[in-house]
Amino acid sequence: MYRIPFDRVNWITSSFLIGTALIAVIGLPVYLIKFGIDWFQFSMFAFYLVATMMSITLGYHRLFSHLSFKAKWPVRFFTLVFGACAFENSCLDWASDHRRHHKHVDHDEDPYDISKGFMWAHIGWLMFKLNPEPPMDNVNDLRKDKLVMWQYKYVHWIGLVIGLIVPSALGYAWNSFNGMNPWIGALGGFLIAGVARIVVAQHCTFFINSLCHTIGRQPYCSGHSARDSAVMAFLTFGEGYHNYHHEFQHDYRNGVKPWQWDPTKWTIWTLSKLGLVEGLRRVPDSKILLAEMREARIRAQKHLAELQACDPSHAQRACDAIHEMHERLTANYHELEKAVSERVQLSRDVLNNWQAETRTMMRDIRRMAAAVPA
Ligand SMILES: [Zn+2]
Ligand SMILES: [Zn+2]
Repeated sequence: MYRIPFDRVNWITSSFLIGTALIAVIGLPVYLIKFGIDWFQFSMFAFYLVATMMSITLGYHRLFSHLSFKAKWPVRFFTLVFGACAFENSCLDWASDHRRHHKHVDHDEDPYDISKGFMWAHIGWLMFKLNPEPPMDNVNDLRKDKLVMWQYKYVHWIGLVIGLIVPSALGYAWNSFNGMNPWIGALGGFLIAGVARIVVAQHCTFFINSLCHTIGRQPYCSGHSARDSAVMAFLTFGEGYHNYHHEFQHDYRNGVKPWQWDPTKWTIWTLSKLGLVEGLRRVPDSKILLAEMREARIRAQKHLAELQACDPSHAQRACDAIHEMHERLTANYHELEKAVSERVQLSRDVLNNWQAETRTMMRDIRRMAAAVPA
């Protein structure tokens, strides 16, 4: 049995997280059964959910924590205001925690260290303060931004007014305008676009720290726990390609392949075309492929060792095949590494061929590894 360290409970945060979750799972269904939902309440929920999630992924995360692009004040203001409505603390606190997460991933100083368990990474780190609060000495660049400091000072007021009072007031106004009971409209706004939206947005963000370090593939690096998952990307506005993100944290894209679901990346790109953001940082394709090849070589070596350790006669053919793939990967890797270090521009066709070859080999290596007898 785990002992709950009651003396270390962060009571305000814990009460908020548990209280909002209870309202969402008990109060909301009762309201929906009794009064239903109209298109206005649903649209408000959808708008608030997208605005809040996008403010966290585009604003708090990619803009302020990683400086992966530069934004004009309207984008910074919008994301700081709706980021406050997520009730995930101020942007300054959030970025400080997140920068420490990247610097110390999977180690003790990582605030949401997955090696302490799934629930710790998801929500436990917010509910318990086991260690003294570290100094926020890694966000001095953000302290120079007046909007960030304004939000830092008033974050709870902004969240309360814009995130809860405004949807309640709009629900009230909509119902009175349509000759319905205004207080039912206000309660609906509070429960649906307010509390339920906060709970959904928070847990989708928390998934990035828990599930995105638990399920999925590691095509770029298996040296840390971060993983790529299309399902998680769908739930997190594109943040689910977390293995890529931990390898190349300053890239404004998380879903770097054209077919990957990354609405945050598409929004940043669209804002750049509108002149509202600029300086989008991209890792060159050759460097991305180099990481994929390096990881494929590590996998090949690992599975070769596993195969050699089991019945040699059974594994000989598979060993030979993986050995051959490893040799080929190594040759490609060194050729690409040389081109990158000498800044030689490689043609799109060459990169595409190497990429396709690496992926096929990764798939074959996985298939053969799965066939290893236990
Ligand atoms: Zn992470
Ligand atoms: Zn990050």
